[in-house]
Amino acid sequence: MTLFDLIAARIRQDGPISMADYMADCLLHPTLGYYTTRDPLGAAGDFTTAPEISQMFGELIGLSLAQAWLDQGRPAPFTLAELGPGRGTLMADLLRATGAVPGFLEAAQVTLVEASPVLRETQARNLTGHAPRWLDNVDALPDAPLFLIANEFFDAMPVRQFIRQDDGWAERRITVADDALSFGLTAPGKRPALAHRLEDTRQGDMVELCPAAAPITTAIATRIATHGGAALIVDYGDWRSLGDTVQALRDHRPVDVLKCPGQADLTAHVDFEPLAQAAHDAGCHASKLTPQGVFLERLGITARAQALARDMRGAALDDLVAAHRRLTHPAEMGNLFKTLGLFPAQAPPPPGLER
Ligand code: SAH
Repeated sequence: MTLFDLIAARIRQDGPISMADYMADCLLHPTLGYYTTRDPLGAAGDFTTAPEISQMFGELIGLSLAQAWLDQGRPAPFTLAELGPGRGTLMADLLRATGAVPGFLEAAQVTLVEASPVLRETQARNLTGHAPRWLDNVDALPDAPLFLIANEFFDAMPVRQFIRQDDGWAERRITVADDALSFGLTAPGKRPALAHRLEDTRQGDMVELCPAAAPITTAIATRIATHGGAALIVDYGDWRSLGDTVQALRDHRPVDVLKCPGQADLTAHVDFEPLAQAAHDAGCHASKLTPQGVFLERLGITARAQALARDMRGAALDDLVAAHRRLTHPAEMGNLFKTLGLFPAQAPPPPGLER
């Protein structure tokens, strides 16, 4: 049975499903889901990410978190966590770079929140010697100081999609007809959770809601507010998203979202406003939302690239220059990707970010 058969059968039996239900099945169905069955990253996979582009990304994230740890009086022990670590590349680069910070690694309990058994194996191979432990979700994070990175994690959280109408919001549904999936709409209704979007939308506009985003942020922010720590959340998106941002990528190319369930990566732009709001509500401070290019430049990515370039020639040097550009240039990832930092109200923001 394919995932399409399974989803179609479910719709025929129980009725049309939301985009969030569809994304959840596509990405994490226990036996047929996209992440549960493969390592999707890299040139041979479907998409690539900042840590896979260059070691500089994980190194600088690590140094920002380590400085936040120093600024807060070197709490020990502490949880060094990553949400959705992919291949473990970022964490490996982070651990190598922070080895020079006295006491940091000795106090760190490396903790990976990962839903995919396939990726857990890859992470274990790439992080030997660091004794990581794996958690199924953020609620299992210990009550302890928490220094955390989440890169391209929130964009994999399923979103619901709503279209503004005269008399409320209609939700987009996925249905099945003629042996293919297609879009439909519910009847319009009131949506208190979208009240704030009446100010910046017009009839016919689509907005998205990510039900998991705020509870995950609350779990992180509560620990940081109570025990100290810092979180760096890096993802594509903006303060508020507008329009249909759900995208499917297969073999590095966009494909129809409904065409190959479980065979393509599905992501949506991250709305950072509800993350910052959830952090505030949990008693934690949220930084200014900062473009990735600005964040990395402030952390010294150009100096790091120049240091690496000294020993490089030919194709390796060309790759390094291209990677630096790809991570920071406004026309590449520099502007589309943003960083939000969470930190205790009485602590300075992690380096690279402003209060
Ligand atoms: N951060 C990595 C990988 C990004 S891909 C990088 O930058 O390269 C998204 C990651 O999140 C994958 O590791 C995927 O398996 C994981 N993931 C997706 N949904 C998840 C969930 N609900 N809980 C835990 N991990 C999840």
